[in-house]
Amino acid sequence: MDDRSFYGDGLAVPEEDVVFFHQTSGTTSRPQRQPDTLEDWYWWGECWASVLWAQGVRNTDRVLIGFNYNLFIGFWGAHYGCEKIGAEILSTGGLSTEQRLDKLMELKITTIVTTPTYAFRLMEGAARRNIDLKTLGIKRIICAGEPGALIPETKKELEQAWGCDVFDHIGATEVGAWGYECSSKSGGLHINESMFLVELLDMETKEVITEPNKYGIVVITSLDRKGKPCIRFNTNDIACWQETSCECGRTYRLLKGGISGRVDHLIKARGTFITPAVIENIIMAKPYLTNEFFIQISKKSTEISVHIEIQQDINGLDVEKIKEELEDEIYKKTSLRFKVVLEQYGKLARSDTKSRRLIDLRKES
Ligand SMILES: [Zn+2]
Repeated sequence: MDDRSFYGDGLAVPEEDVVFFHQTSGTTSRPQRQPDTLEDWYWWGECWASVLWAQGVRNTDRVLIGFNYNLFIGFWGAHYGCEKIGAEILSTGGLSTEQRLDKLMELKITTIVTTPTYAFRLMEGAARRNIDLKTLGIKRIICAGEPGALIPETKKELEQAWGCDVFDHIGATEVGAWGYECSSKSGGLHINESMFLVELLDMETKEVITEPNKYGIVVITSLDRKGKPCIRFNTNDIACWQETSCECGRTYRLLKGGISGRVDHLIKARGTFITPAVIENIIMAKPYLTNEFFIQISKKSTEISVHIEIQQDINGLDVEKIKEELEDEIYKKTSLRFKVVLEQYGKLARSDTKSRRLIDLRKES
């Protein structure tokens, strides 16, 4: 087999220099093969060590990686980042939620690396067993894989349930772990500018945006990756620059509020763009709702509905009134009319990794 065709045209080293194979998750497209040299792999560890260090992980920490990491690169990166810092690593790749909860109770773990979705799964598992997560001594949860940890209400709910800090991080298989929230929690994501060049491009003109508060598409160049160089990679993520600097003293620029959404998840109507994160922030503030929801756009765009799950015990609250209030609040925040459909507890499918928040029937045949 021609190894260049195995990896595509992007392979820039002899095939024998490739020592690590990974694949993208294929959330939005066909999985991509990712070749890395040994030097690239040390570089990945360094990216992640920067993330972990900025979030307070030190060689005295014991880190549980709560994710099945196989061909997906992100959590391997966290694993080797811990190794670089000297923190103790507990890989719980093949364990169930119940077994991971057992380990959390037994092993004096200080840090968890997981997706926000899975942090909620663990909370559900803990509630079933009457485990108070706040008593376990966990200092921080480091989130990866999907947005959420920087959405204010999601962060608040996770931090209250776990009694610890919850930090966001961002990376991509083709790029590296390029951004992170630091322990000063300025509300933004630092770009790791010693290892990446990040540009924001205007969604229509494609011109580079340098001023704060103007949304654009995130385009990234990884400065040291050799096996498959990453030059001006279009992430399809949307973000804007933060005006203010961070109290931590880092001079790296910040993305305000982190990633606001993905280009392919934008709901465009009446000249405005909204992302599922806006709806998530409203839902998370309501104790009588779970964090399970999805938005559906009908085939001819005549109706946008949001399906939301109510809690098991809502203490006699009037469901019809809840529905009306949610519709009003969503309208005030988005200027769009959403139909709210309240679903019974347990009706919406649970994911252990990434939650699908948008079903756009206009794009499905
Ligand atoms: Zn900072």
